[in-house]
Amino acid sequence: MKWSQEALNEEKPGKEKIAVVRCETVAEVCPGAACFKAFNKKKRHFQKYPEDAELIGFITCGGCPGRRVSRLVDSLIKHGLTTVHLSSCMLLDGDYPPCPHVEEIRKSIAAKGIKVVDGTHH
Ligand code: SF4
Repeated sequence: MKWSQEALNEEKPGKEKIAVVRCETVAEVCPGAACFKAFNKKKRHFQKYPEDAELIGFITCGGCPGRRVSRLVDSLIKHGLTTVHLSSCMLLDGDYPPCPHVEEIRKSIAAKGIKVVDGTHH
């Protein structure tokens, strides 16, 4: 099937377009399957989204102190990004230490007018 650029650019107004930002260090040992599972089944921190919500980005922070986040969020905004979820691995104090930079990362995303939600699958 051939897609025209017009068809790809056609957007339903108000559609949720979501990205997940996760820890670069944890990404070395985690393929992100639990985050995708939670999104695909609309569970846990994704449960409020309608069926047509899209996951348009799954990015890592780029390493402490999150140097990649701002640039990638800017790129995603061009694709209609509405909300960024901070991954559970950035927030929990369990198998991994919680991110010491999470507040700055959260503020840098919110300053662009993008909604920030804590957590993905936990
Ligand atoms: S800034 Fe936070 S999320 Fe990113 S690598 Fe460091 S600890 Fe992990």
